[in-house]
Amino acid sequence: MIPFVDLKSQYLSIKQEIDNAVLQVLDSTQFILGNEVQTLETEFASYCNADFGIAVNTGTSALHLALLAAGIGPGDEVITVPFTFVATVAAICYTGARPVFVDIDPVSYTIDVTQIEKAITERTKAILPVHLYGQPADMEPILEIARRYDLIVIEDAAQAHGAEYKGQRVGSIGDLGCFSFYPGKNLGAYGEGGMVVTNHPEYTQKMRMLRDWGQEQRYHHVLKGYNYRMDGIQGAILRVKLRYLENWTEARRNHAALYDQLLADSWLKTPVVMPYSRHVYHIYSVRCPGSDTMPPSQQRQALQKMLNEQGIQTGIHYPIPVHLQQAYADLGYKLGDFPWSEKAAHEVLSLPMYAELKTSQIQTVVESLQKFDCGEKFR
Ligand SMILES: *Cc1c(COP(=O)(O)O)cnc(C)c1O
Repeated sequence: MIPFVDLKSQYLSIKQEIDNAVLQVLDSTQFILGNEVQTLETEFASYCNADFGIAVNTGTSALHLALLAAGIGPGDEVITVPFTFVATVAAICYTGARPVFVDIDPVSYTIDVTQIEKAITERTKAILPVHLYGQPADMEPILEIARRYDLIVIEDAAQAHGAEYKGQRVGSIGDLGCFSFYPGKNLGAYGEGGMVVTNHPEYTQKMRMLRDWGQEQRYHHVLKGYNYRMDGIQGAILRVKLRYLENWTEARRNHAALYDQLLADSWLKTPVVMPYSRHVYHIYSVRCPGSDTMPPSQQRQALQKMLNEQGIQTGIHYPIPVHLQQAYADLGYKLGDFPWSEKAAHEVLSLPMYAELKTSQIQTVVESLQKFDCGEKFR
């Protein structure tokens, strides 16, 4: 069996260190926030080249707090993409603001920077690009537009720990950067977790209050806050794992290079790395082009079924863009509004990807892909 992700093999590779770190937290009884979380904030912010880190309980909370820190609320609009995980859009709605979608660039899967300006209105307050699959959005034009229209830039870097745009780590390129430590992410806790990084001291102070009931000091509630605190155990685990992140990222990048090489002449389209990117391959996603007799999504379904029968797990990130999700029908978008997002949703297929993946496993996956009857046009 080749799983889509393998959390167990990674745990076993660092078991002693993790177990010790957890036991130390149990012994200290610093179960919520505390020294480990505080040190993680410093270490992870420094990893992102940012001045401050604010640890929270999920990546979704990180997005929510970043938006609140930026002063976003009812009546405001935030520009983002529909081809993302639903949390990006949900966090905007939590503030009472309205998400305004811009389609993706079909090559990079990140926001099409040429379409941002026409989505800007009087009410626009922020741009929220998503570094999808671990590839940075094209930040330079985004920052330039933001400067011109006086907008805040919040990066959704939940899939992009350690990714770089023109040599700069994501998270610290815009005003605020949001990360998730969900177990399957490139840096994953053993439970939920998230962090905002920023260079702004005012935002930092506000988010530290908001994550802990808006308190300035105990029982003095300056702001209407939330319980978005990180657990001490997660802080300790993430500190151990952060020390391995660069090695794991390099392993992912090597696996991607091998997939690229072995699939170079195949009927599937491999991911494109933009010239400005250090891609960290949270997800290695190929595209099913479809054939004369089979539309892409049907071909993808047949391929996924065949792989599954051979013990190879795959995923689809994401099958329905957010503008077509039932829960967001009230935004008033319809089929055809964002053609590149809709096309990607029909074609993408995520192959097994994690640091501990073996060369032989990648070869097996590729052999299975090559065996699939992809239809007339590609034989
Ligand atoms: C995982 C993810 C989130 C949400 O993070 P959680 O920790 O699961 O709340 C937000 N945006 C994107 C793009 C993600 O992949």
